[in-house]
Amino acid sequence: MIIVVGGGVTGLSTAFWLRQMGHPVTLVEKGIVGWEASGRNGGGCTHPYSPLFREEQRLWPMMDELLGYPTEWRPHRIRIGLDEAQMTRLRAATMIATDQGFQSEELDNKALREFCPWVAEGTPRAIHWKHGGHANPQRTVQAYAWAIADRGGTILQHTTVQAIETRGGRAVAVKTDKGSIGCDAVVVAAGPHTAAIARSFDVRVPLAPARVEMIVTEPLPLLELGGIDGNGLYGRQTLRGNLAYGGGPHEWIDLDGPATPRAVNSPVVAGLARRLAELFTRLPPVRVIRSWGGIVENTPDGRPVLERLSDPDNVVIATMSSVGFGLSPATGRALAQLVVEGECDFADLSQLKLSRFGNLAPDWRARQGWVAGA
Ligand SMILES: Cc1cc2nc3c(=O)[nH]c(=O)nc-3n(C[C@H](O)[C@H](O)[C@H](O)COP(=O)(O)OP(=O)(O)OC[C@H]3O[C@@H](n4cnc5c(N)ncnc54)[C@H](O)[C@@H]3O)c2cc1C
Repeated sequence: MIIVVGGGVTGLSTAFWLRQMGHPVTLVEKGIVGWEASGRNGGGCTHPYSPLFREEQRLWPMMDELLGYPTEWRPHRIRIGLDEAQMTRLRAATMIATDQGFQSEELDNKALREFCPWVAEGTPRAIHWKHGGHANPQRTVQAYAWAIADRGGTILQHTTVQAIETRGGRAVAVKTDKGSIGCDAVVVAAGPHTAAIARSFDVRVPLAPARVEMIVTEPLPLLELGGIDGNGLYGRQTLRGNLAYGGGPHEWIDLDGPATPRAVNSPVVAGLARRLAELFTRLPPVRVIRSWGGIVENTPDGRPVLERLSDPDNVVIATMSSVGFGLSPATGRALAQLVVEGECDFADLSQLKLSRFGNLAPDWRARQGWVAGA
């Protein structure tokens, strides 16, 4: 039995791929699947700087069919630059995908306004990424969970993992608040809580949790492409027409209890609305009708950790450092291979090992200005 700890997109996708490969799997989730960052994010599926980018791009167009349920995935992104400085940064970001053979096209103001009539006439331009895309996070987590259940996998909700029990350099059981479950292997994909669980088998995972927020407007007429962003924002137009946008800055926190932020309407929310109004100056009068916060965990270099450990040697660690939704189809497939075969045959994950933080100073959060309340 392979136990997956955590029912966010990373754990769900891993459990899905393990069932696709025919392995017995039980996923253990302390609350409800997808309730944390995985159901609260911007839905972006475009991560060219990841070694899993190619697989991310290959898999998303087929996920609805593979899972058997809709994710509302839509292809392409349009990234707006409101001034020359923003366009310069966008061109640099675009090159990362161009170098890997992915197409894009620069749009002048007229061409941009054909895609998005809410943009001001004159200066704003854009780059149309003819790759990448976005999906509906809530639909996607539900689709993964149903697909696991359809294939005979077990999902235990409202069950908190307290520790991984090891013997002779191997994980032998997962201790939960409802009893212990024997295991042949474990995948720890507990988001910001991955560090606490890893401590139970003496592995240090350096993570700084942060709260990030999203706002949602009333519905607007549907654009041809719903994945249009810029001005430091990321987001999408939902199929109902709402604009759902986030964009930081991170509010650094400590995890003292449940990982769900209760309070909203921080100054960050007002900042998101202001930047959206700057981006879409010709937007019809529209109200912000919802906002929410979610917690993302951040490694010191902002990149994921995906690794099968050497001690205990049947444990895989997965923490996505803020970019886990879009990569999830590829991450889950990679993790399933790591836990079953010991390596991933379609991407080089060596750069995502924990050993890169071997010389990390104990006060790294303070040095990076990432302490709670900073
Ligand atoms: C506002 C916001 C916007 C974002 N926008 C994007 C975006 O546009 N594109 C993108 O790719 N990413 C985005 N992200 C990041 C993305 O959502 C996360 O990287 C991703 O969801 C991480 O998934 P996960 O499964 O690794 O972790 P999580 O979603 O945090 O799931 C971990 C799960 O583990 C469970 N758990 C924790 N401890 C235990 C325990 N002891 N026992 C049992 N279960 C436990 C938790 O309850 C949780 O359900 C955004 C995040 C936020 C918050």
